[in-house]
Amino acid sequence: MGLSQSVVRSVAFAFAVAVCVALAALQVGRAKSAGGTRSSQAAVTLRELPGGAWRVTYDLPRDVAQLDLGPNFGDYRARAWRVRTGGVEIAVEEGRDVVRPIDRRRRFNTISFDVSKAAIGLPRVYETFTPLGANGALIFTGHFQPWSGDGARRPIAFNVEPLDGRFVSVFDEVTPRLENWRSRFDNPAFLYIGDAPSMRGPGLVGVVDSATPDWVAQEVGAFAPEVIGYLSARFGWTLQATPNLFVSYGGDETPGRAMFEGDALPAQFRIGLRGGAWERRSPFAEHILRAGVAHEAAHLWQTAARPFSEDAPDWIHEGGADSIAAETLVALGWWGAQDLRRRRHMAKAACFRMLRGVSLPALEARGEIAASYDCGQTINDLAARAHPEGAIGFWKDFISRARAEGGYDADLFFEVAGEHGGPQFADALRRFAILPQARPSEALLAVEAALDSRSATRSAAGSIAKAGDH
Ligand SMILES: [Zn+2]
Repeated sequence: MGLSQSVVRSVAFAFAVAVCVALAALQVGRAKSAGGTRSSQAAVTLRELPGGAWRVTYDLPRDVAQLDLGPNFGDYRARAWRVRTGGVEIAVEEGRDVVRPIDRRRRFNTISFDVSKAAIGLPRVYETFTPLGANGALIFTGHFQPWSGDGARRPIAFNVEPLDGRFVSVFDEVTPRLENWRSRFDNPAFLYIGDAPSMRGPGLVGVVDSATPDWVAQEVGAFAPEVIGYLSARFGWTLQATPNLFVSYGGDETPGRAMFEGDALPAQFRIGLRGGAWERRSPFAEHILRAGVAHEAAHLWQTAARPFSEDAPDWIHEGGADSIAAETLVALGWWGAQDLRRRRHMAKAACFRMLRGVSLPALEARGEIAASYDCGQTINDLAARAHPEGAIGFWKDFISRARAEGGYDADLFFEVAGEHGGPQFADALRRFAILPQARPSEALLAVEAALDSRSATRSAAGSIAKAGDH
C-alpha cells in the first residue's frame, strides 16, 4: 500500500493506543449453568424510562436471602443503582455487590432498581451503558446477570423494553421488545438499543454511528463482511451467531490523528474511532481501519477457546489477533508482502525496546499493554512460521487443543508451537516469552536458529528419502 515511513510511525502509534478489552471478560469456569434445572428460571426485565434511566426488575423462581450481583467496581452500584424495593439494600461483601434484606431474617423473590447511566470508569471493565451515536447505547448484559455461590454467572432470561419507536438488536434479532432472551453463548453480550441497525446482511448486522464519516461507514460495510467470510473459510467454522459490529465515532478533537479502540465478545465486536484523520479517506486511515477491524474480527474466532484463568497472558490473544489480522490483510489483497514485512519488523523492534532488561510477564504485570501487542505478535508470528498453515493454522490447532483441555495458558501455547516447530524451537520461544532479556534480539535469533535447524533437518531427511527412491 506504499506507506511512507512517517505514516508508518503514526500507524505504529495508533496500534499502541488500540486498547482492546477483548477476552478479558472471558474465562473458563465462569460459564457453568445450573444445568437446565428449575432454578434457572430467573428473569430480569430492563425497561427504559423517559429521561435515560432504566428500571431493572429481577424475578426469581424462589425466595432467596441474598442476590450476588458480581464484583464491586469502585462502588459503581452505590452511585448508579437505586433500590426501589423497600427493606432491601445493596451491601459490599468480600468485594462483591450483594442485594439483601436489611432485616437479615427476611427473604425476597423480586427486587427492583432504577439504574442511571453513570459510568464505571475502570480500565478493562466493560461499561454497563456505552453510548453509540446520538440516540443509541450498548448494554453489557454481564452487569445484570447475578452470580451463584460457586463463582459462576447464573443463567437468566432477559426481557428488554426500550421506549416506543426504538429497537433492541442482538445477533440477528432486531425487535421493539426482547422477550425471554438467553444468549446462546455462556458469556455476556452487548444489546444495542436505538434505531434499527444500518447494516443488515446475512453474515453481519452492524450499527454505525450516524456521525461516522461516509467513507468509513462504506469501507467498514464492505470490508468487515469480507474479513468475516475469509476467517470462516480458513478456520473452517462459522460463528455460532450472526456477528454484530458496532461502530462509534468520537469526532475530531485531535486533528491529524486516527485513534482506534475496540473490543470483542463472542460474535460481537465494537470499534470506537476518534481523531481528525478519520474525516477524509487516506491510505493512513484506511490502513488503521482495516488492520483494526481484522484484529477485532480475529478475536471472534479466538473466543472459541478460553484461558484457564485471568492469569493467562494477554500476549497470547492480542499478539495472536495481530498475527491473524496481518495474514488476513495480505490474503485479501489489502497488504502487499512489503507491508507485512514492515509491520512484523516494527512489532519486533518495538518489542526489543520494551523487553531490554525485563521479562514480558513483568511488562504485562506493569500494565504495559503495548508489549502484549508487539511482543505478542512477534511470538505468534514465530509460531505461525513453524506451522505449515501460518497463524490461522496455528490458532486452529491451539483452539482445538484448548477446547480438549478445557482452557489454555502459556504452557499450552508452547506445547502446540512445538508440534510443528520441534522441542528446541518451543523451548527457545518459551525462554524469549517468559525470561528477562538482557539482549532480546539475540534471544530471538536463538528461536529463529532453532526453527531453521528444524527445517534443515527436515529437508535433509526429505533428500535422503528421495535418494532412497531411486
Ligand atoms: Zn485485541
